[in-house]
Amino acid sequence: MRLLVTGGAGFIGSHYVRTMLDGGYPGYEDARITVVDNLSYAASRTNLPDHHPRLRFVTGDICSFPLLLDLLPGHDAVVHFAAESHVDRSVESAVAFVRTNLTGTQTVLDACLKARIPRVVHISTDEVYGTIEQGSWTEDCPLLPNSPYAATKAGSDLLARSYWRTHGLNVSITRCSNNYGPHQHPEKLIPLFVTNLLEGRRLPLYGDGRNVREWLHVDDHCRAVQLVLEHGRAGEVYNVGGGNELTNLALTGKLLRLCGADHSRIRQVADRKGHDLRYSLDDSKIREELGYAPRVPFDEGLAATAGWYRDNPDWWKAAKYRAEPDPVKDGS
Ligand code: NAD
Repeated sequence: MRLLVTGGAGFIGSHYVRTMLDGGYPGYEDARITVVDNLSYAASRTNLPDHHPRLRFVTGDICSFPLLLDLLPGHDAVVHFAAESHVDRSVESAVAFVRTNLTGTQTVLDACLKARIPRVVHISTDEVYGTIEQGSWTEDCPLLPNSPYAATKAGSDLLARSYWRTHGLNVSITRCSNNYGPHQHPEKLIPLFVTNLLEGRRLPLYGDGRNVREWLHVDDHCRAVQLVLEHGRAGEVYNVGGGNELTNLALTGKLLRLCGADHSRIRQVADRKGHDLRYSLDDSKIREELGYAPRVPFDEGLAATAGWYRDNPDWWKAAKYRAEPDPVKDGS
């Protein structure tokens, strides 16, 4: 079995690759993996082993059709994680998001067709649905993305489906809720707040903190991706939820307690433009059809994640201070 993983030096892709290399997916213990990642600001080459007999790392851009055509022959499957992933950056400028998330995905899909790749999984997000005040989204709900990030992810998600419908590409799509865990770039809420607390800085909380997000440990998301790769049906979408819905304020309270700090460390900042109020997924389809269930209890996973950042300052300082200056991040 040979897999090509795009975006494998990022947060979720690298977790997936490490787990597979560690033998975490039964039947895939011998799988050989090619990672294609352009090592953007969000990536860290240290997220993956320097040398591994079953890993080939290629620094490259998914928008390059010749590169993908060169790499793809002989692979049995492609798992497409690569994306520009930070909503705030897409509010500043959508250029990179349109390029990577739309053109990049179209290029990956075309290359998969041309190279006759037998199986493809496209990683989408719950943010494509927009915002929901009550109830939860099923896979049939309309896509009403509100941020440029979500809009480009919705476009790529629909492109993937269209390649199934039009060309018969064997592609399935996952729409997952917010992930947390080790190796997440410190521009994202949980690592930003934990690392700010470790540095004695304040926590820039958007608005009144009542926005609700559903959290899932990255290990559970990756297991769902593997289930979809192995057993998902072509052309189908699978929601992947965590069931842990929390306001950002409640989540901040948990992080403060974990780090031994109090609410005086919170600094309210102007709300994000177009900030979605609530995300909530109905993921009964993947549970019933593929036997998926999350395993990591939220409080345990969150404590372990905070502990990982405490123990790995070199990793997060390199990521945090390599990024361009960001007024929201500068929360002290
Ligand atoms: P990330 O930003 O940590 O990683 C993305 C990776 O893609 C990086 O390594 C980056 O270098 C690479 N990349 C970006 N542009 C590229 C290009 N043009 N060519 C090659 N590589 C490129 O993001 P993540 O949090 O790991 O998210 C992975 C996927 O999961 C994304 O598609 C994202 O939309 C989706 N997703 C994320 C979450 C979440 O909570 N993080 C939730 C649901 C879905």
